[in-house]
Amino acid sequence: MQRAQGRNDRFWPLATLAIILLGALCGLIYSVALHFDTVAREREEAIVANGLDGVVSEVGRRVIPQAIWDDAVRHLDNDFDAGWARENIGAFLTATADFDAIFVIDAADRPRFASTESAGSVVEAYGPYAAAAAPLVTVVRAREATRAAAVDTLTDYIQVSTFASVNERIVILSATLVQPDFGHARLSEGRAPILVTALPVDEAFIEGIGRRFLLRGLHVHNGDSRPEIDQAHVTLPSVVGESVATIDWNPQTPGSDLIGRVGIPLVGALSALTLLALLLDRRASAMAQGLVASEARATQLAYFDTLTGLPNRMRLLERLDQALEHLRRDPNATFAVLSIDLRRFKAFSDHYGHHMCDQLIREVGRRLALQVRAVDTCARIGPDEFAIVQPNAGASQAAAFASRLLEVMQGAFDLDISEAFFDVSIGITVVTDGAMDAGEALRQADLALSRTRANNLGSAYGFFEIEMDAAVKTRRALEADLRAALAKGELEMVYQPQVKAKGVMTGVEALVRWRHPQRGFISPAYFVAMAEECGLIGELGLFTLARAFEDSRRWKGIKVAVNVSAIQLRTPGFVTTVSALVKKLRVDPRRFELEITESLLLGDDPDTHATLQRLRELGFSLALDDFGTGYSNLSYLKQFPISKIKIDQSFVANLGSDEAADAMVSAIIRLARALGLSVLAEGVETEDQRRRLAAAGCTEIQGYLYSQPLPAAGIDSLRQAAADRHSTLRLTPAAAA
Ligand code: C2E
Ligand code: CA
Ligand code: CA
Repeated sequence: MQRAQGRNDRFWPLATLAIILLGALCGLIYSVALHFDTVAREREEAIVANGLDGVVSEVGRRVIPQAIWDDAVRHLDNDFDAGWARENIGAFLTATADFDAIFVIDAADRPRFASTESAGSVVEAYGPYAAAAAPLVTVVRAREATRAAAVDTLTDYIQVSTFASVNERIVILSATLVQPDFGHARLSEGRAPILVTALPVDEAFIEGIGRRFLLRGLHVHNGDSRPEIDQAHVTLPSVVGESVATIDWNPQTPGSDLIGRVGIPLVGALSALTLLALLLDRRASAMAQGLVASEARATQLAYFDTLTGLPNRMRLLERLDQALEHLRRDPNATFAVLSIDLRRFKAFSDHYGHHMCDQLIREVGRRLALQVRAVDTCARIGPDEFAIVQPNAGASQAAAFASRLLEVMQGAFDLDISEAFFDVSIGITVVTDGAMDAGEALRQADLALSRTRANNLGSAYGFFEIEMDAAVKTRRALEADLRAALAKGELEMVYQPQVKAKGVMTGVEALVRWRHPQRGFISPAYFVAMAEECGLIGELGLFTLARAFEDSRRWKGIKVAVNVSAIQLRTPGFVTTVSALVKKLRVDPRRFELEITESLLLGDDPDTHATLQRLRELGFSLALDDFGTGYSNLSYLKQFPISKIKIDQSFVANLGSDEAADAMVSAIIRLARALGLSVLAEGVETEDQRRRLAAAGCTEIQGYLYSQPLPAAGIDSLRQAAADRHSTLRLTPAAAA
């Protein structure tokens, strides 16, 4: 909607501008064309006006041979001869030069001879012409009077020609002074006669002019008419400059012709181009909008979590940087960082899968987002981890905020499958030092979170303290030491016997030991978990397997149980690595039992199924360790290729003192029997415990009652001693003492 709006905002102003420009261009082309037409018309008019002058002169020149002639001097001046005049002047000029009125004027300017169509006397005939001819005669007489004595009359003849109107008829009137040509005749004293001739400017004459000058639609208007629109217009002037008539014609119009030929297609093409440009612009702006939108999407992806729509870790770190920057400027300021996670999320996720997790996380994000102020930043920074930066907050504000968050998270989460409740842990650090970096601030909050989670069962929040930091630093150092110890092969294996009824040793469990050069003995329960967390478990697992494989060669006839961490087992390629090791050390997998934990079986993951199945196919047997402490229930053990369960030592420890423990143990044993699984009880320390277990039907036991875990050589000695005593591998409780 907004985008379409944006496009319209630009389109119409542009379109209007384009139309205005196009209009201006058309106007310009039109005015240029008009200008061309005007220039062309004026040129034509000038040419025609000049041409008409020529025509008038030319008409006059037709009289010259008859006027500049010795015979004419003799017969019109020396001795006037009317008969000669009629024949050589009147008839001749009418016949050869189209004149329709010819007069001879004497020295006194009176008409002496007339040759016209009209009847009557010479004076009557000259009457209509007299007025028009008078100015011409005057000019001729004036030039006659000032003429030089010796001139070449053939070139310097005296003649005046002009347009004139006679009886509303347009004529070309000429007055020509009679003169000798070769000087055989001589004019008498005084003024010479004048020939006055009139040539009608009739239709035929006009047509002739039209043809000569290539003029279209040429026509004559008597008198001084106004020019007609779009027509060229020339006046036919009298000798005194008055307009006798005008002639009009249709002039050439090169400009209009050009518009007709080129202009219209040009304007069409320009309009099309303009339209195209507008459409292109529209498209380009749509594309630009699209780019902006996809850039915005990219930013959204880079800075925001797609599931919750909250800022992501990157954005959070940026906001942390800003808060730290503020601290550097204002040393009295403080801000808080809260790290938040859901307890039991992992188990929930294993059990219910991605879809439910997504639903849950979205709802958690929503609840958190509703609590933050505009200046706070609430981000999702891990699968079930959120963090909030609270600018301008000290410990008390952060604590109040945290308890409000715990409150809102307490309500039931209404998920597709059912309602769920989650405890929440919050770790808080209050940052006062601007020199810290963003990663460190977040790390402190995380540390406070782990500590809070470890120290509290339900929902709780806790603050980061310096000692906490020290503990973590120690742990970092320990991780590095473990890595080094693994690389140098400094870990050792011990083996704890597993015995059947009557003390027959049926197997040993391999247990890893690490003696730290400074800290002494470190519990595998601690460093195995650490190895899982810091990514060393693969290496550690491989080390224990390899040692157990090698040491097993010493003991024929008994099984060796090896603990395998769930994380190690879920690592892709685990089966391949194990079978390669089997080949390399040339051992028989049927002699080994892999101890796995219940948590591995949760979630019903098809890959885990496949891994366990393949291990089984290689020949390994599988035992379920610490049974009874986790979430699993016996009924779905059937789905896994497990052959043994190990009753956890916590039940064994309580046998005899806690009835529930007795009941639990016997229930486990009965169910295992029903499922065809063998049962081993671990952590058996007393004879009483052994008896109770035996009574409940558990005959295989492991514990200090028989033996502590021992180095391989210790197991050798035990076996030797037993063989010496009974020639069977029988242990007695006394052996452990
Ligand atoms: P676990 O697999 O349940 O091993 C049995 C633990 O109980 C061993 O502790 C063993 O020393 C101890 N134990 C044996 N008999 C008795 C008894 O009568 N009374 C009492 N109170 N304890 C007894 P340890 O060796 O400290 O190992 C602790 C845990 O560390 C093991 O529990 C196992 O989960 C893990 N672990 C040990 N070695 C390895 C290993 O090589 N690989 C893996 N992945 N985990 C190991
Ligand atoms: Ca074990
Ligand atoms: Ca165990």
